[in-house]
Amino acid sequence: MGGNWHKMFSCLIRGFSAFGKVTDLCCILTIFVVSCACARPAFGQVEKCLDLSSDIQELSDEVVQRHLDFEQQRSVLENDPAMTSRSGRNVTVPVVFHVLYFREEENVSDDIILSQLDRLNEDFAAENADRSDIPPLFADLSIDARISFCLVQEDMDGRPFSGIHRLQVDTDLIGLRRTDGRRHVFHADLGGVDPWDVDRIVNIYICDMGDIGGLATRPLLVSDPLRQGIVLNYKFVGNNTSDDFNLGRIAVHEMGHYFGLEHTWGTADGCDTDDGIMDTPRQFGPYFGCPAEGSASCGSPDMYMTYMDYVDDECMHMFSAGQTRRMLSTLILARPLLDRSPYCTDADTTTVDHDWQVFPNPISSGELLIHGPDDIEYGDLYDSSGRYLGDYSSGRPGWLSIPTDGLPSGVYLLVIKHDTSRHQVKFVKL
Ligand SMILES: [Zn+2]
Repeated sequence: MGGNWHKMFSCLIRGFSAFGKVTDLCCILTIFVVSCACARPAFGQVEKCLDLSSDIQELSDEVVQRHLDFEQQRSVLENDPAMTSRSGRNVTVPVVFHVLYFREEENVSDDIILSQLDRLNEDFAAENADRSDIPPLFADLSIDARISFCLVQEDMDGRPFSGIHRLQVDTDLIGLRRTDGRRHVFHADLGGVDPWDVDRIVNIYICDMGDIGGLATRPLLVSDPLRQGIVLNYKFVGNNTSDDFNLGRIAVHEMGHYFGLEHTWGTADGCDTDDGIMDTPRQFGPYFGCPAEGSASCGSPDMYMTYMDYVDDECMHMFSAGQTRRMLSTLILARPLLDRSPYCTDADTTTVDHDWQVFPNPISSGELLIHGPDDIEYGDLYDSSGRYLGDYSSGRPGWLSIPTDGLPSGVYLLVIKHDTSRHQVKFVKL
């Protein structure tokens, strides 16, 4: 599969040569109907997702064979009735954001990055408010993927960490640069950042990618297994002011790729190719903009509103049940250590250490007091999504005090380092 520019060029050639014959409806409509739902992006507009086929061509036969074996195993797992019960458990995935900025405007704020994390959590949980815009034909297929995301809470040296790593780089467009097949963002010796613990963390890079929205490495399909991650154009991260991709859904789309999903239409245009998922109808090619309800291309209405299409952020609303099964089976087989990663402290599954006294718990307002051994030094506070909120020092030996008036209602986790061990205390703010 070539890049979209190549596709658009060949589309134009095919469209003109097909003048008078409807052999390539999408292409012909592209040329003659500017507002056509399946119109390709015009030159100078954003290409949502970078085609990684040029990376994939460098793979060894061994990697390709391993991937074929993996796909076979995944197919068995996806169709296993036990997957239904397996999919009943929650998977919590730690993420680290590496902001690689050349110009200050590329150094996106913590608030924008946190809005990106919220978007990932909402969309994967099917808690997005615009879910009500899914056409009735597909509404029942939209389900909670039961995959959530948290910021890693320790850096690679075991120190408390916010989950957001910033580095000023000495070149523009670092998100697109490659040398000898090596993508600069993934290599410290090329001015990027080596991914952190790729088995247990999803590394999300934010940087300049020109007119490309984002890219993701596919499970197992990498020449160097240590170089995996998602790269996002800084302009389209979280809630932003861009025209078409202003809700942070390029990251949702790329995370879908990272968890094994293909585009809804498969790896090439046409009704003969498909994404291999039963409940997403065959579709000729990508949609752009906001398609009209009922848009169809291969004899049935298309599911253009899934996150794996190219439509505007405001017009994508769902992962289908089939897409969810594929992501979970991919996680189990290809990225098994992401779940239950030690970098994510999951407040729901942490056993409270009863040697510590916490009162009052739950708390409605005022100071929360925690009593323990005399040599408590400090505790790190996290909310239920794993977001680091700050550290609290001990005012007097054996005690910690946390002012709770500014905290929204919810479950919180205090991680206390004591000698060489870690203790976790959960409390509820009403
Ligand atoms: Zn894509």
